[in-house]
Amino acid sequence: MKRLLLLISALLLLIGCTEKTTAHSAAGIACDTVVTVTAYAPQQTVDETMKVIADYEAVLSKTIEGSDVWRLNHAEGMPVEVHPETAALLKLAVEIGKASEGAFDVTIAAASAMWDFASDDPAIPNADALRAAVARIDYRNIVIEGNTVTLLNGAEIDLGGIAKGYIADRVADYLRGKGVTSACINMGGNVVAIGTKPNGERWTVGVRDPNGTPDQSEEVLLIEEAAVVTSGNYERFFLRDGVRYHHILDPKTGMPVMNGLASVTVIGARSDLCDALSTACFVLGEEGSEALLARYGVRAIFLYSDGTRLAYP
Ligand code: ADP
Ligand code: MG
Repeated sequence: MKRLLLLISALLLLIGCTEKTTAHSAAGIACDTVVTVTAYAPQQTVDETMKVIADYEAVLSKTIEGSDVWRLNHAEGMPVEVHPETAALLKLAVEIGKASEGAFDVTIAAASAMWDFASDDPAIPNADALRAAVARIDYRNIVIEGNTVTLLNGAEIDLGGIAKGYIADRVADYLRGKGVTSACINMGGNVVAIGTKPNGERWTVGVRDPNGTPDQSEEVLLIEEAAVVTSGNYERFFLRDGVRYHHILDPKTGMPVMNGLASVTVIGARSDLCDALSTACFVLGEEGSEALLARYGVRAIFLYSDGTRLAYP
Protein backbone atom coordinates (compact mmCIF):
# COMPACT_ATOMS: atom_id res chain seq x y z
CA MET A 1 0.00 0.00 0.00
CA LYS A 2 2.77 2.39 1.01
CA ARG A 3 4.64 1.55 -2.19
CA LEU A 4 1.56 2.18 -4.25
CA LEU A 5 1.13 5.60 -2.64
CA LEU A 6 4.80 6.37 -3.28
CA LEU A 7 4.41 5.31 -6.88
CA ILE A 8 1.31 7.46 -7.33
CA SER A 9 2.94 10.52 -5.78
CA ALA A 10 6.04 10.00 -7.93
CA LEU A 11 3.80 9.82 -11.00
CA LEU A 12 1.93 12.97 -9.98
CA LEU A 13 5.23 14.75 -9.44
CA LEU A 14 6.38 13.63 -12.87
CA ILE A 15 3.18 14.89 -14.47
CA GLY A 16 3.58 18.16 -12.58
CA CYS A 17 7.13 18.54 -13.84
CA THR A 18 6.37 17.64 -17.44
CA GLU A 19 3.48 20.09 -17.44
CA LYS A 20 5.96 22.81 -16.57
CA THR A 21 8.27 21.75 -19.39
CA THR A 22 5.69 20.84 -22.03
CA ALA A 23 3.92 23.50 -24.02
CA HIS A 24 0.18 23.31 -24.46
CA SER A 25 -1.82 25.47 -26.81
CA ALA A 26 -5.37 26.61 -27.31
CA ALA A 27 -6.76 28.51 -30.27
CA GLY A 28 -10.03 30.11 -31.17
CA ILE A 29 -11.80 33.02 -32.77
CA ALA A 30 -12.61 35.88 -30.41
CA CYS A 31 -12.88 39.65 -30.72
CA ASP A 32 -13.19 39.18 -34.49
CA THR A 33 -9.71 37.70 -34.74
CA VAL A 34 -7.62 34.57 -34.34
CA VAL A 35 -6.41 33.95 -30.81
CA THR A 36 -3.69 31.51 -29.81
CA VAL A 37 -2.35 30.88 -26.34
CA THR A 38 0.72 28.73 -25.75
CA ALA A 39 1.82 28.11 -22.20
CA TYR A 40 4.04 25.78 -20.26
CA ALA A 41 1.08 24.79 -18.13
CA PRO A 42 -1.55 22.05 -17.95
CA GLN A 43 -3.84 21.90 -20.98
CA GLN A 44 -6.82 22.72 -18.79
CA THR A 45 -5.26 26.00 -17.62
CA VAL A 46 -4.52 26.97 -21.23
CA ASP A 47 -8.06 26.08 -22.29
CA GLU A 48 -9.50 28.23 -19.50
CA THR A 49 -7.97 31.34 -21.09
CA MET A 50 -10.55 31.10 -23.89
CA LYS A 51 -13.27 31.57 -21.29
CA VAL A 52 -11.39 34.53 -19.79
CA ILE A 53 -11.28 36.14 -23.25
CA ALA A 54 -14.97 35.46 -23.93
CA ASP A 55 -15.93 37.01 -20.58
CA TYR A 56 -14.03 40.22 -21.39
CA GLU A 57 -15.40 40.32 -24.92
CA ALA A 58 -18.93 40.14 -23.50
CA VAL A 59 -18.21 43.35 -21.59
CA LEU A 60 -16.09 45.32 -24.08
CA SER A 61 -17.62 44.42 -27.45
CA LYS A 62 -19.50 47.10 -29.36
CA THR A 63 -21.79 44.58 -31.02
CA ILE A 64 -22.68 42.14 -28.23
CA GLU A 65 -26.00 43.33 -26.85
CA GLY A 66 -25.86 44.17 -23.16
CA SER A 67 -22.08 44.69 -23.08
CA ASP A 68 -20.88 47.78 -21.23
CA VAL A 69 -19.97 49.44 -24.53
CA TRP A 70 -23.30 48.50 -26.10
CA ARG A 71 -25.18 49.93 -23.09
CA LEU A 72 -23.14 53.16 -23.25
CA ASN A 73 -23.79 53.55 -26.96
CA HIS A 74 -27.53 53.02 -26.45
CA ALA A 75 -27.91 55.22 -23.34
CA GLU A 76 -28.66 58.40 -25.30
CA GLY A 77 -26.39 60.45 -23.11
CA MET A 78 -27.62 59.12 -19.77
CA PRO A 79 -25.05 57.98 -17.15
CA VAL A 80 -24.27 54.26 -17.24
CA GLU A 81 -22.77 52.16 -14.45
CA VAL A 82 -20.04 49.97 -15.97
CA HIS A 83 -17.66 47.30 -14.64
CA PRO A 84 -14.68 48.83 -12.81
CA GLU A 85 -12.41 47.36 -15.48
CA THR A 86 -14.36 49.07 -18.26
CA ALA A 87 -14.05 52.37 -16.41
CA ALA A 88 -10.30 51.83 -15.99
CA LEU A 89 -9.87 50.94 -19.66
CA LEU A 90 -11.85 54.00 -20.74
CA LYS A 91 -9.64 56.14 -18.49
CA LEU A 92 -6.57 54.79 -20.25
CA ALA A 93 -8.21 55.36 -23.65
CA VAL A 94 -8.96 58.96 -22.73
CA GLU A 95 -5.40 59.42 -21.43
CA ILE A 96 -3.94 58.21 -24.75
CA GLY A 97 -6.48 60.37 -26.57
CA LYS A 98 -5.11 63.37 -24.74
CA ALA A 99 -1.45 62.36 -25.06
CA SER A 100 -1.84 61.81 -28.81
CA GLU A 101 -3.83 65.04 -29.26
CA GLY A 102 -6.78 63.07 -30.53
CA ALA A 103 -4.97 60.83 -33.02
CA PHE A 104 -6.19 57.92 -30.91
CA ASP A 105 -9.85 58.44 -30.15
CA VAL A 106 -12.22 55.68 -29.02
CA THR A 107 -15.22 57.82 -29.92
CA ILE A 108 -14.22 56.90 -33.51
CA ALA A 109 -17.38 54.70 -33.47
CA ALA A 110 -19.42 57.41 -35.21
CA ALA A 111 -17.16 57.04 -38.26
CA SER A 112 -16.03 53.40 -37.94
CA ALA A 113 -19.68 52.28 -37.94
CA MET A 114 -20.01 53.76 -41.44
CA TRP A 115 -17.30 51.50 -42.88
CA ASP A 116 -17.80 47.81 -43.54
CA PHE A 117 -14.48 46.43 -44.73
CA ALA A 118 -15.70 42.84 -44.67
CA SER A 119 -18.68 43.43 -46.96
CA ASP A 120 -18.82 41.71 -50.38
CA ASP A 121 -19.71 45.05 -51.88
CA PRO A 122 -17.95 47.61 -49.64
CA ALA A 123 -18.86 51.29 -49.99
CA ILE A 124 -17.09 54.56 -49.28
CA PRO A 125 -19.37 56.50 -46.92
CA ASN A 126 -21.13 59.59 -48.19
CA ALA A 127 -19.00 62.71 -47.51
CA ASP A 128 -21.77 64.68 -45.78
CA ALA A 129 -22.69 61.76 -43.55
CA LEU A 130 -19.02 61.31 -42.66
CA ARG A 131 -18.68 65.00 -41.79
CA ALA A 132 -21.68 64.75 -39.48
CA ALA A 133 -20.11 61.67 -37.86
CA VAL A 134 -16.78 63.43 -37.33
CA ALA A 135 -18.56 66.15 -35.35
CA ARG A 136 -19.42 63.46 -32.79
CA ILE A 137 -15.81 62.24 -32.46
CA ASP A 138 -14.05 63.69 -29.42
CA TYR A 139 -12.67 61.67 -26.53
CA ARG A 140 -13.39 64.66 -24.25
CA ASN A 141 -17.05 63.71 -24.52
CA ILE A 142 -16.35 60.69 -22.31
CA VAL A 143 -17.02 61.63 -18.69
CA ILE A 144 -15.92 59.10 -16.09
CA GLU A 145 -16.85 59.42 -12.42
CA GLY A 146 -15.97 56.29 -10.47
CA ASN A 147 -17.66 53.50 -12.40
CA THR A 148 -20.25 55.78 -13.93
CA VAL A 149 -19.66 56.83 -17.52
CA THR A 150 -21.57 59.46 -19.48
CA LEU A 151 -21.18 60.08 -23.20
CA LEU A 152 -21.83 63.70 -24.16
CA ASN A 153 -22.79 65.28 -27.49
CA GLY A 154 -23.81 62.08 -29.25
CA ALA A 155 -20.44 60.35 -28.71
CA GLU A 156 -20.24 56.58 -29.25
CA ILE A 157 -17.46 54.21 -28.32
CA ASP A 158 -15.47 51.63 -30.31
CA LEU A 159 -12.68 49.94 -28.35
CA GLY A 160 -11.32 48.12 -31.45
CA GLY A 161 -8.01 49.96 -31.13
CA ILE A 162 -7.28 48.97 -27.51
CA ALA A 163 -9.51 46.12 -26.27
CA LYS A 164 -7.51 43.23 -27.72
CA GLY A 165 -4.35 44.58 -26.15
CA TYR A 166 -6.13 44.99 -22.83
CA ILE A 167 -7.58 41.48 -22.91
CA ALA A 168 -4.21 39.96 -23.85
CA ASP A 169 -2.76 41.55 -20.69
CA ARG A 170 -5.61 40.13 -18.61
CA VAL A 171 -4.98 36.64 -20.04
CA ALA A 172 -1.33 37.02 -19.04
CA ASP A 173 -2.42 38.05 -15.52
CA TYR A 174 -4.71 35.03 -15.36
CA LEU A 175 -1.88 32.68 -16.29
CA ARG A 176 0.55 34.34 -13.88
CA GLY A 177 -2.08 33.89 -11.16
CA LYS A 178 -2.00 30.16 -11.89
CA GLY A 179 1.77 30.15 -11.35
CA VAL A 180 2.66 30.11 -15.06
CA THR A 181 6.10 31.56 -15.75
CA SER A 182 6.38 30.82 -19.47
CA ALA A 183 3.68 31.60 -22.03
CA CYS A 184 2.89 33.51 -25.18
CA ILE A 185 -0.51 35.00 -26.01
CA ASN A 186 -1.39 36.24 -29.49
CA MET A 187 -4.67 38.02 -30.10
CA GLY A 188 -4.63 38.96 -33.76
CA GLY A 189 -1.29 40.72 -33.70
CA ASN A 190 -1.35 41.68 -30.02
CA VAL A 191 1.36 39.49 -28.52
CA VAL A 192 2.20 39.19 -24.83
CA ALA A 193 5.09 37.03 -23.65
CA ILE A 194 5.40 35.82 -20.08
CA GLY A 195 9.06 35.16 -19.27
CA THR A 196 11.10 33.13 -21.75
CA LYS A 197 10.68 29.54 -22.86
CA PRO A 198 11.75 27.18 -20.05
CA ASN A 199 15.15 26.64 -21.73
CA GLY A 200 15.82 30.37 -21.55
CA GLU A 201 15.18 30.99 -25.26
CA ARG A 202 13.22 34.10 -26.01
CA TRP A 203 9.86 34.05 -27.80
CA THR A 204 9.82 34.92 -31.49
CA VAL A 205 7.34 37.39 -32.96
CA GLY A 206 7.25 37.93 -36.69
CA VAL A 207 6.49 41.42 -37.99
CA ARG A 208 4.64 40.90 -41.24
CA ASP A 209 6.08 42.13 -44.51
CA PRO A 210 3.29 44.51 -45.64
CA ASN A 211 4.01 43.68 -49.28
CA GLY A 212 4.21 39.94 -48.72
CA THR A 213 1.73 37.20 -47.95
CA PRO A 214 0.29 36.98 -44.40
CA ASP A 215 2.93 34.44 -43.37
CA GLN A 216 5.92 36.40 -44.69
CA SER A 217 7.88 38.25 -42.03
CA GLU A 218 9.81 41.45 -42.62
CA GLU A 219 11.73 40.76 -39.43
CA VAL A 220 11.58 38.53 -36.41
CA LEU A 221 11.68 40.03 -32.92
CA LEU A 222 12.98 38.10 -29.93
CA ILE A 223 11.15 39.03 -26.74
CA GLU A 224 10.84 38.07 -23.12
CA GLU A 225 8.33 39.45 -20.63
CA ALA A 226 7.09 42.03 -23.10
CA ALA A 227 4.25 43.01 -25.40
CA VAL A 228 4.44 43.52 -29.16
CA VAL A 229 1.49 45.02 -31.00
CA THR A 230 1.16 45.72 -34.71
CA SER A 231 -1.44 47.90 -36.43
CA GLY A 232 -1.47 47.33 -40.17
CA ASN A 233 -3.42 48.58 -43.18
CA TYR A 234 -3.68 44.98 -44.40
CA GLU A 235 -5.83 43.68 -41.53
CA ARG A 236 -9.22 44.96 -42.70
CA PHE A 237 -9.43 46.76 -46.02
CA PHE A 238 -10.86 46.89 -49.50
CA LEU A 239 -9.39 48.19 -52.74
CA ARG A 240 -11.21 50.68 -54.95
CA ASP A 241 -9.61 52.24 -58.02
CA GLY A 242 -6.22 51.17 -56.77
CA VAL A 243 -6.74 52.88 -53.39
CA ARG A 244 -6.55 50.86 -50.20
CA TYR A 245 -9.37 51.77 -47.81
CA HIS A 246 -8.48 50.30 -44.42
CA HIS A 247 -9.66 50.30 -40.83
CA ILE A 248 -7.32 52.79 -39.15
CA LEU A 249 -9.17 56.06 -39.40
CA ASP A 250 -8.16 59.67 -39.02
CA PRO A 251 -10.49 61.03 -36.30
CA LYS A 252 -10.41 64.44 -38.02
CA THR A 253 -11.90 63.13 -41.28
CA GLY A 254 -13.29 59.67 -40.57
CA MET A 255 -11.29 58.49 -43.60
CA PRO A 256 -8.60 55.78 -43.59
CA VAL A 257 -5.16 57.20 -42.82
CA MET A 258 -3.18 57.52 -46.05
CA ASN A 259 0.30 58.68 -45.10
CA GLY A 260 2.36 55.99 -46.80
CA LEU A 261 2.53 53.82 -43.68
CA ALA A 262 1.68 50.15 -43.97
CA SER A 263 2.19 49.13 -40.35
CA VAL A 264 3.38 50.30 -36.96
CA THR A 265 4.68 47.86 -34.36
CA VAL A 266 5.06 48.97 -30.75
CA ILE A 267 7.14 47.03 -28.21
CA GLY A 268 6.71 47.70 -24.51
CA ALA A 269 5.67 46.28 -21.17
CA ARG A 270 1.89 46.57 -21.46
CA SER A 271 -0.11 45.42 -24.44
CA ASP A 272 -3.10 47.72 -23.78
CA LEU A 273 -0.77 50.69 -24.00
CA CYS A 274 1.11 49.28 -27.01
CA ASP A 275 -2.20 48.60 -28.77
CA ALA A 276 -3.47 52.15 -28.35
CA LEU A 277 -0.05 53.56 -29.25
CA SER A 278 0.27 51.46 -32.41
CA THR A 279 -3.01 52.89 -33.66
CA ALA A 280 -2.09 56.43 -32.54
CA CYS A 281 1.34 56.24 -34.19
CA PHE A 282 -0.18 54.97 -37.41
CA VAL A 283 -2.29 58.14 -37.50
CA LEU A 284 0.57 60.42 -36.45
CA GLY A 285 3.34 59.02 -38.68
CA GLU A 286 6.91 58.48 -37.49
CA GLU A 287 7.90 62.11 -36.86
CA GLY A 288 4.64 62.97 -35.15
CA SER A 289 4.97 59.93 -32.88
CA GLU A 290 8.39 60.49 -31.32
CA ALA A 291 7.26 62.56 -28.33
CA LEU A 292 4.45 60.11 -27.59
CA LEU A 293 6.75 57.08 -27.80
CA ALA A 294 9.34 58.78 -25.58
CA ARG A 295 6.70 59.68 -23.02
CA TYR A 296 5.61 56.06 -22.66
CA GLY A 297 9.12 54.62 -22.96
CA VAL A 298 8.30 52.16 -25.74
CA ARG A 299 10.02 51.16 -28.97
CA ALA A 300 8.40 51.23 -32.40
CA ILE A 301 9.00 50.05 -35.95
CA PHE A 302 7.39 51.95 -38.82
CA LEU A 303 7.05 50.09 -42.13
CA TYR A 304 6.04 52.08 -45.20
CA SER A 305 4.36 50.68 -48.31
CA ASP A 306 7.40 51.65 -50.40
CA GLY A 307 9.62 49.42 -48.28
CA THR A 308 11.10 52.14 -46.02
CA ARG A 309 11.72 51.04 -42.43
CA LEU A 310 12.15 53.49 -39.58
CA ALA A 311 12.71 52.47 -35.98
CA TYR A 312 12.29 54.44 -32.77
CA PRO A 313 14.47 54.99 -30.82
P1 ADP B 1 -6.16 45.77 -35.25
O1 ADP B 1 -7.61 45.77 -34.89
O2 ADP B 1 -5.87 45.21 -36.60
O3 ADP B 1 -5.28 45.22 -34.21
P2 ADP B 1 -5.72 48.50 -34.48
O4 ADP B 1 -5.26 48.18 -33.12
O5 ADP B 1 -4.99 49.58 -35.18
O6 ADP B 1 -5.71 47.28 -35.44
O7 ADP B 1 -7.22 48.93 -34.33
C1 ADP B 1 -8.00 49.33 -35.41
C2 ADP B 1 -9.40 49.44 -34.88
O8 ADP B 1 -9.45 50.51 -33.94
C3 ADP B 1 -10.43 49.77 -35.93
O9 ADP B 1 -11.01 48.60 -36.46
C4 ADP B 1 -11.43 50.62 -35.16
O10 ADP B 1 -12.28 49.78 -34.43
C5 ADP B 1 -10.55 51.35 -34.18
N1 ADP B 1 -9.96 52.61 -34.68
C6 ADP B 1 -9.73 53.00 -35.96
N2 ADP B 1 -9.14 54.20 -36.01
C7 ADP B 1 -8.98 54.59 -34.72
C8 ADP B 1 -8.42 55.76 -34.10
N3 ADP B 1 -7.90 56.76 -34.82
N4 ADP B 1 -8.42 55.82 -32.75
C9 ADP B 1 -8.93 54.79 -32.01
N5 ADP B 1 -9.46 53.69 -32.52
C10 ADP B 1 -9.48 53.57 -33.86
MG1 MG C 1 -4.30 49.32 -31.74
